Amino acid sequence: MRPIQMVDTRTQYHRIKSEVDQAVLDVLESSAFIQGQPVKQLAAELAAYLNVSHVIPCANGTDALQIAMMALDLRPGDEVITPSFTYIATTEVIALLRLTPVFVEVDPQTFCMDPESLRKAITPRTKAIVPVHLYGHAAPMEPILQIAKEHGLYVIEDNAQAIGCDYRFSDGRIAKTGTLGDIGCTSFYPSKNLGAFGDGGAIFTKDATLAEKLKMIANHGQRTRYYHEIVGCNSRLDSIQAAILRIKLKHLDDYNQSRRNVASHYDRVFSGYPKITTPHQAPYSSHVFHQYTLKLATGVDRDGLVKFLSERNIPSMIYYPVPGHRQAMFAEFGTAGVNMPLTDVLTNCVISLPIHTEMDTEQLDYITDAVLKYLS
Ligand SMILES: *Cc1c(COP(=O)(O)O)cnc(C)c1O
Repeated sequence: MRPIQMVDTRTQYHRIKSEVDQAVLDVLESSAFIQGQPVKQLAAELAAYLNVSHVIPCANGTDALQIAMMALDLRPGDEVITPSFTYIATTEVIALLRLTPVFVEVDPQTFCMDPESLRKAITPRTKAIVPVHLYGHAAPMEPILQIAKEHGLYVIEDNAQAIGCDYRFSDGRIAKTGTLGDIGCTSFYPSKNLGAFGDGGAIFTKDATLAEKLKMIANHGQRTRYYHEIVGCNSRLDSIQAAILRIKLKHLDDYNQSRRNVASHYDRVFSGYPKITTPHQAPYSSHVFHQYTLKLATGVDRDGLVKFLSERNIPSMIYYPVPGHRQAMFAEFGTAGVNMPLTDVLTNCVISLPIHTEMDTEQLDYITDAVLKYLS
């Protein structure tokens, strides 16, 4: 059996090696490493794929979120509401910009922002909402957008884990996550569903004025070289990464389907075991399974399971062991004292199993056998 990894980017590379190698060599030959042709081509192709008017590539997903918040002219002290149960990048940039992170609960089934908790957290200082499409499942955008509209708030989607995911509105309309709010942000970190061979990210918007501003901010606040109109930063996707991503974008739907196949295999085997809850899929969302995350029943020793699997060369991960409201980083905001029972429970009972585009049945059977053996 091939060794089991959380992600297997090498085998994935080998399947498209000749095309990728040639694309990289072409960039080396052109020597247009920054702002080269592949960056513009990727932006156009991604815009077509997502059906969004503007795509602004940048250096990574964390920068994408930061640039989005800078473009909306949020001021120190403005409150930004986000789930506590997310990767630190979502919330860190809020504090970095001297904005105030306000953490809310997630739905215990989908692990995404709970609209009722969001509604309760709104104050006169609230300016923006950052829902996260966690693990590849869409946040409930229809109610979130409705609440945002009622209160005049911006919505920035953290789509780093859900590129390719479809959202279905109650009127039947379907659109890609990341294109539903004012701004969408994504990451091309190598392990993401659309991963580069290094860092990368992108920002999406339907608004031409916002797009222009996002582009300026990502490039030192300039429209014309050396004329800096607003404070920006240096956040670019380089041409080599863009050239690789152009090739991988063509395979994204297949990659996501492979992930769904792995998830269905796990689901089939695990269904009916009372000690585990398999991932839930709400009717409004497709699922691109950036992670396959089980919820363990209370009483199951999670650390024991991690160790048991690891002894059998099966990696697993806890996404995330410490929720935002308990991070030392946010101590100054007094978030440690807030009451978030659902999030606290989740951080103690989730476990993510290996899922990627290159898994075979032998590996899957080996993993499910081990999990069930531990739980029996
Ligand atoms: C990966 C990730 C990011 C940040 O992306 P980087 O490219 O690593 O900066 C942001 N939010 C979420 C939810 C992520 O999973």
